Amino acid sequence: MTEEYDYDLVVVGGGPAGSSTAFTAAKSGIKVALLEKENSIAETVRTSGVTWIESIKEFGIPDNCYNPIKNFSFVSPNNEVTISDSIATAAVLDVRKTYRWLTHEAEKAGADIFVKININEVIKNENNDIVGVSGTGPNGKIIFHSKVIIDATGFTSVISKAMGFVTQWKRFGAGAEYEAKVENVDPDTWWLMVGQEYTPAGYAWIFPLGNNIIRIGVGVGKPESDIDPTQRLKEIIEKQLGPIKKLGKITPIEFHYGLIPNDGLSRKTVFNNLILVGDSAGQANPLVLEGIRYAIKFGRVAGKVASDAIKNKKTDADALYPYEENWRNAIESKINSAGKVQDRWIGLSDKEWDKELDIIKELKLKNFWIS
Ligand SMILES: Cc1cc2nc3c(=O)[nH]c(=O)nc-3n(C[C@H](O)[C@H](O)[C@H](O)COP(=O)(O)OP(=O)(O)OC[C@H]3O[C@@H](n4cnc5c(N)ncnc54)[C@H](O)[C@@H]3O)c2cc1C
Repeated sequence: MTEEYDYDLVVVGGGPAGSSTAFTAAKSGIKVALLEKENSIAETVRTSGVTWIESIKEFGIPDNCYNPIKNFSFVSPNNEVTISDSIATAAVLDVRKTYRWLTHEAEKAGADIFVKININEVIKNENNDIVGVSGTGPNGKIIFHSKVIIDATGFTSVISKAMGFVTQWKRFGAGAEYEAKVENVDPDTWWLMVGQEYTPAGYAWIFPLGNNIIRIGVGVGKPESDIDPTQRLKEIIEKQLGPIKKLGKITPIEFHYGLIPNDGLSRKTVFNNLILVGDSAGQANPLVLEGIRYAIKFGRVAGKVASDAIKNKKTDADALYPYEENWRNAIESKINSAGKVQDRWIGLSDKEWDKELDIIKELKLKNFWIS
């Protein structure tokens, strides 16, 4: 038997973008469903979870969801620099706790949360505009009719692809990491490691979570490099390169793997009855491959714009455009500049990285991390 539902707004994807969209939309009083394909929210972690305390405070994320960071250490083959803040400005999130908190906020605001719903088809009207989605749930086929649909499915952009609006990202980052217990680590300091031995296009990292737990990983730019990040991660741990040696015995707790778009802000993000948000919209900083705070920030904007449009009974691309205008004004020029720095960094040799670290030392962190 097919289950069928009617909502004002259906959000596909229960990551930070989807939960944040559902939160503001439900808060404004419309009928919202959030659909997630996994068994629970954040069942699989695909991110390192670094973000900025300023944003954490803005979003109201509880203090027990993150470990604050004061010192930022950079290592190249023959150089090492540390930039320190007197007050912590960055943080490593407990990703599961944070994402579940975001979804809980949406639920408290009135959104219905559905898990184990894998959406794989779109429903169109006679004008070829989207008016619903369908897929499989625990009881078989399931259909959701909706006035507006949000594609918050992340890198895979399932809805926009099914509509024929987008194709697979061509340039992207692939990252592999272990969450692991270690013998020694300073919980206030993160490490970014650059140079050919770590990764030929990207960087490796150690992000502390407190209680001697870290996330240690390798990111590789595609198609610039054909290196497998998982393999390279195992190699750098085995070789105990640079600061990895100081960690002592590394006992993996969990493995994470993910992909992040790096094609710039190339996508249109509003169509009739449809908004793309988060990674499906490409809202990520290509320099440092950071997207969580954009997913939350612009998810909240998307929820508000969609609910206003639904209340005004006009949900075409023009009515939804204020969302695209908002996020482009906020980050477009900064993301474009970050892309240029990234293009230069990708070509650096080990010797050039050694020199680059001296330049980084003179910079304020936020000069290359964009706020
Ligand atoms: C290795 C790596 C490290 C990263 N590190 C950081 C970092 O340190 N800091 C930072 O800010 N950003 C980081 N990012 C980027 C960050 O993870 C993303 O920008 C962010 O997760 C985007 O959120 P989202 O909600 O758009 O997508 P996602 O978090 O990918 O969420 C999408 C959700 O949709 C669900 N879904 C997908 N398809 C369907 C379907 N068909 N039906 C139903 N549900 C579906 C998925 O299960 C998932 O829950 C990293 C990315 C990678 C790959």
